[in-house]
Amino acid sequence: MITEKAYAKINLSLDVTGKRPDGYHDVRMIMQTVDICDELTYEKSGEGITIDVGGSPLPIDKDNLIYKAASAVMEKCCIKGGVRITLDKHIPIAAGMAGGSSDAAATLRGVNRLFECGLSYDELRSLGVKIGADVPYCVEGGTVLAEGIGEKLTRLKDLPTLCIAVAKPKRGVSTGNIYKSLDEIFENVPHPDVDAMLDAMRCCPGPAFIKYLGNILEHVTIPLCPEVDDIKKIFEDSGAAGTLMTGSGPTVFAFFDSQGKAEEAISAARKSGLCNEEETFVTHLVNPDY
Ligand code: ATP
Repeated sequence: MITEKAYAKINLSLDVTGKRPDGYHDVRMIMQTVDICDELTYEKSGEGITIDVGGSPLPIDKDNLIYKAASAVMEKCCIKGGVRITLDKHIPIAAGMAGGSSDAAATLRGVNRLFECGLSYDELRSLGVKIGADVPYCVEGGTVLAEGIGEKLTRLKDLPTLCIAVAKPKRGVSTGNIYKSLDEIFENVPHPDVDAMLDAMRCCPGPAFIKYLGNILEHVTIPLCPEVDDIKKIFEDSGAAGTLMTGSGPTVFAFFDSQGKAEEAISAARKSGLCNEEETFVTHLVNPDY
């Protein structure tokens, strides 16, 4: 049996630069891995792909991104046997933290190792982009500029292990609807300064990049889920150095200069009644050793 960790991501910057004729959006995003993770195990079995999702409400059939990833590697490498996969879920679901994409990427790595397929990370990323736009990034994670639909990846300098508070509002949002609504207001929406953040990361060690946090999708998600703004205010009042929504939301994160301050911010978010306790936690930037 082998195990893989699947770390979550946050977007330090997220810009949408246009829409393609095929409906996909062109993006420029600075992605960062954080140390909350799902844990997966992989064992050879008689035949087929079986998935145990523990107590989580996720599907166990081909609608689970884990299934798609296992099947992609097994088909490419003509594997005849089966695999039994267990998932221990910790990353909030439909949160903008790439939980499903990270599980898929972990499964590309895990099934590749289990059956000794010998596929390179480049080959795994190529399989991953057919499963989801964030999957290629999640194969290795770290601090990365993602362009195209998310598949053109440029590795950036590692950031320090900063402390982050994370809170997901109880009310959910649909990623599809968020992008559709963005199309309607696209011409009038201010864009985050991705290049300024890249310059700050290149030139200044430490947290100078935080002042350029930006996510174009906040302009769409906040009117649909005002709790995003409420949580940002709670984090600001708790002394955050910077706060932002990740992905299409609705999860909000904030940087703090100590673990104690981040924990106080989490208590304040929980007391507000806007979030579930298990979807409100302190985490840290991490550069995974996949
Ligand atoms: P992203 O940040 O990449 O947009 P997300 O964090 O918003 O992703 P996920 O948690 O990946 O969202 O889940 C999105 C949808 O994908 C859910 O509605 C869920 O049912 C489906 N899904 C399929 N497989 C998984 C999985 N292994 N883990 C989580 N969600 C999954």
